[in-house]
Amino acid sequence: MSITTRFAPSPTGYLHVGGARTALFSWLYARKHGGKFILRIEDTDLERSTQESVNAILEGMAWLGLDYDEGPYYQTHHFDRYKEIIQQLIAQGDAYYCYCSKDALEQLRTEQMANKEKPRYNGKCRELKGLEEGIEAVIRFKNPIDGVVTIEDLVKGDIVVANKELDDLIIARADGSPTYNLTVVVDDMDMKVTHVIRGDDHINNTPRQMNILKALGAELPKYAHLPMILGSDGARLSKRHGAVSVMQFRDDGYLPEALLNYLVRLGWSHGDQEIFSLDEMVEYFELDNVNVSASTFNMEKLLWLNHQYIMNSDPVHVARHLSWHMGQLGIDPADGPDLVDVVKAQRERSKTLVEMAAASVYFYKEFDSYDEKAAKKNFTVGSDDVLEQLHAKLAEMKSWSAEPLHQVVVDLAEALGLNMGKVAQPLRVAVCGSAVSPAIDITLTLIGREKTLARLDKAISYIRSQK
Ligand code: GLU
Repeated sequence: MSITTRFAPSPTGYLHVGGARTALFSWLYARKHGGKFILRIEDTDLERSTQESVNAILEGMAWLGLDYDEGPYYQTHHFDRYKEIIQQLIAQGDAYYCYCSKDALEQLRTEQMANKEKPRYNGKCRELKGLEEGIEAVIRFKNPIDGVVTIEDLVKGDIVVANKELDDLIIARADGSPTYNLTVVVDDMDMKVTHVIRGDDHINNTPRQMNILKALGAELPKYAHLPMILGSDGARLSKRHGAVSVMQFRDDGYLPEALLNYLVRLGWSHGDQEIFSLDEMVEYFELDNVNVSASTFNMEKLLWLNHQYIMNSDPVHVARHLSWHMGQLGIDPADGPDLVDVVKAQRERSKTLVEMAAASVYFYKEFDSYDEKAAKKNFTVGSDDVLEQLHAKLAEMKSWSAEPLHQVVVDLAEALGLNMGKVAQPLRVAVCGSAVSPAIDITLTLIGREKTLARLDKAISYIRSQK
């Protein structure tokens, strides 16, 4: 059987971590089985859906690299088809017009609550014949009264729901617009979705959707409901736990593959392996290994993974992402060293690309002031002379590369009877503005001869002006 999965977000906000995990699992399942992955935008709620959210979802999918074989489809383009199916259900006796007013339904609800019964529609209009003109009517699905629906959930196992628990669901509102459960069913059927992989907040909808599919004579898809993601306090993950929008993770300096790796482990495992290339994820992914219980989002673990990816990914790839962050800081990477070399110099010390970018500005742009503590500690009496001598030696150098640069510092320290730090640290503060940088020889190769000499001059004048 060829497999088709879909990700079906409602565009009522950004692409959040939970949605991204659902998308990833659906994508992995399709990729693993050589199947098809569809993106479907469920935008029928006209009041809450926005183009901005659609864009945010598309941007998030693209940033994560979750490519789709079909779509994005938009449910608002399928209204005619939904109407057709609603009419078909009415014609075959599986749906009916309901004329109960809002007040009557409210009263019914109050009575049921008072009797400690589950509030549900009592089926009053179920057997009405013909169409009553002039009265507002919704359309309800005629749910079977007897028997049970069994969801053979691929994650949670069998879930059995008695039909008497399910009342007659509204499938079209009084204005004729179709409701969520109807549109999902029609699209899943038309798109020949074989596996519905989605959050377990939809589990209550599933037996209703299965009954509609049965009434339409459609083949039922298999279902896999993913347990929810919790914040560190045990509550459902939400905005107040910090970054939950996928694009926020980009802004905060995460690599997309680090986030994907984190998301795949959120509720799924393969032995005790933590780091998975995309190919490995595709190879090992099984719905059987998805946890049944909720998982907790752990920012520290994501940060650790991000650092692993920054250190171990192809530096060319990391540099491409770093370039975006440099741009955010107003830096044009053309104004300095090759970003790939910057990545190689900085990757051990940067857990995020935001950190790496912030720590790399001086390779590209002059700084206005020295870090106060660093200047105080290292621009001491006599350091101006040390820098002057360094300037002379560096100006003479034929090859501006790490090894001879290192040698110049070592030789000067020796000649002056100083330990290496007493030469390297003032030099570092002079060329970087702070006492933190990669190894001094690497730092100098990245800054380049011209900028190094100019910054030494500037530092010497600065120190002398402070005397
Ligand atoms: N549109 C629904 C949502 O965003 C998902 C529907 C589904 O996956 O069946 O929650």
